[in-house]
Amino acid sequence: MYIDSHCHLSFPELRAQLPEILQSMRDARVERALCICTTLEEFDRVHELALMHEQLWATVGVHPDNEGVQEPTVDALVELSRRGRVVGIGETGLDYYRLGERTLADMEWQRERFRRHIHAARLTDLPLVIHTRNASSDTLAILQEEGGFDPHDATGLPLARGVFHCFTESVEVARAALDLGFFISFSGILTFRNAAELREVARFVPLERCLIETDSPYLAPVPHRGRTNQPAWVTHVAAELAAVKGLALEVVAEATTRNTERLFTRLGPAPEAAAC
Ligand SMILES: [Zn+2]
Ligand SMILES: [Zn+2]
Repeated sequence: MYIDSHCHLSFPELRAQLPEILQSMRDARVERALCICTTLEEFDRVHELALMHEQLWATVGVHPDNEGVQEPTVDALVELSRRGRVVGIGETGLDYYRLGERTLADMEWQRERFRRHIHAARLTDLPLVIHTRNASSDTLAILQEEGGFDPHDATGLPLARGVFHCFTESVEVARAALDLGFFISFSGILTFRNAAELREVARFVPLERCLIETDSPYLAPVPHRGRTNQPAWVTHVAAELAAVKGLALEVVAEATTRNTERLFTRLGPAPEAAAC
């Protein structure tokens, strides 16, 4: 049985197909999925999915790419995280891919936003869902500074914990994230023909720190490339991870499910398990 640790079922192209998507999940034994929030404006829709469907859970956060949206305060994040079906803070992090005319100095607003998410995660002891693109050194540096890893940290708050989602960075970045106690989540990119380097990273990350995700509707895995992705297809990510590591599919399915439960401690049991 599988968990899709990162999808966007609130996005219109998936929301419109929800009954079919949930049925495909059941058919593929993908028994739970985490619906990831990307703006505060969207939060109610994300959380409502989780309220209405036992197998869905929610996060609260504002994606670093989203500009011109409501800016999250620490208080707002903490407040919304108290809703019954919220299991994590994010997605948050840094994304320098779309700098355009701007310099890194112009992106201080993103770094500030990321700091607030880390603070909220520590106040609530909820895991962070971290998005990083073209920004791994700043992402790691800010996590170091704000996450409680400094021996002089005097906040008394728990250490930041979480997952680097849709991982596409190097072995060195993976090692740094693992050293901070974070998990690494692999998406359908792992199945792409040109992703040999990422498969090396997947070989390096210990199985007990691996999660799997679709990031649907994006990044449909082989053999569905180019189509609208969906949580049921996380099984292809698991199969690729199993192949890369030379393990049985069942071993990877079980380990990644257990890891997701270990990280997202508020996550409830799978619907069938709850029934027995
Ligand atoms: Zn992301
Ligand atoms: Zn996402």
